Amino acid sequence: MGIPAVVQLAGATSIPFGTAVALDGDSGEVTIAPDMQLVTQQRERAARRAEALSHLSGAGATSDGHAVALLANIGGVEDAVAAGALDLEGVGLFRTEFVFLSATTAPTVAEQTEVYRGVFAPFEGRRVVVRTLDAGADKPLKFADLGPEENPALGRRGLRLSAERPDLLDAQLEALGIAARETGADVRVMAPMVATAEEAAWFARRVRENGLPKAGVMIEVPGAALRARHVLEEVDFGSLGTNDLAQYTMAADRMQGALSDLLDPWQPAVLDVVAAACEGAAAVGRPIGVCGESAGDPLLALVLVGLGVSSLSMAPSKVPVVRLALSLHSVAECQSLAAAARAARTAVDALTAVRDAARSELTDLL
Ligand code: PEP
Ligand code: MG
Repeated sequence: MGIPAVVQLAGATSIPFGTAVALDGDSGEVTIAPDMQLVTQQRERAARRAEALSHLSGAGATSDGHAVALLANIGGVEDAVAAGALDLEGVGLFRTEFVFLSATTAPTVAEQTEVYRGVFAPFEGRRVVVRTLDAGADKPLKFADLGPEENPALGRRGLRLSAERPDLLDAQLEALGIAARETGADVRVMAPMVATAEEAAWFARRVRENGLPKAGVMIEVPGAALRARHVLEEVDFGSLGTNDLAQYTMAADRMQGALSDLLDPWQPAVLDVVAAACEGAAAVGRPIGVCGESAGDPLLALVLVGLGVSSLSMAPSKVPVVRLALSLHSVAECQSLAAAARAARTAVDALTAVRDAARSELTDLL
């Protein structure tokens, strides 16, 4: 919605009602009763940033012309209509489970086709990457519930659930196939929570059987990232889900605010796993992008491009600042920022190293 927000703010409920608060949704800093100097500083920076962003438009590219597609993360028709009107290259992640969060029975093929038509229509001639239902753990769906589990995040979720309920996957792929043929969007379908090459092959076969030309997988399980060469050989593309990849790499529940330092995508271990996935993708000539929240962080986006990703999918409000960040750095500079981040010992050091080495025309606005 483009409204800056900060979550997991200890003590927020004891801020007296009516107190002025300065809030930076990018850095997560909140200042209670800020002095005029800080307010002026923040206002001036916001104005400088708006002015810098107003000069840029069009496809994402580094300063030396290397293309990096700038895409939107969406959760339904309303998001699609809003994002479709914006200056971006398509959708990199349509979280289909969001549409059915309150459904108590499985949506029919006809009901789903209607939704997918509505999502594809605003993106005629542009790409729309649809993720099949990622039900379970933090995104429970009533009609796709296999019963309680001790560790739902490690359980039968995502594509694992599709393996147990192939009827749900088949209905979804059928509806996606119909809607894709009726609209002019470049529809690509990917599976969540893929861990092995066998799973990728199983999914790709089902996608193609439904007349959908491009199949991909989310790379959000460290096992799949480490073996990306074999996993991606089975499909047409990969998309790094850095939210879950951080959760599983650092063994830190993404719903557990107290562990947010471990979940930080700047953790060098997470960057190493991303790098391994990019190397695997390059070895078999498959494009790999990022659709986790990290893609919308302008400094981290540079690191990700330096590691080899060719698309970045994010909250639409983040696209302009990421476009600006790319336009100010060459691929070689992105690669050296990536090397600096990976050479760091801690997440904070990685961020500091990249912030210090990135161009001040960018960092002055952050
Ligand atoms: C991710 O895990 O990074 C991702 C993009 O998917 P989700 O946040 O929906 O799990
Ligand atoms: Mg995920």
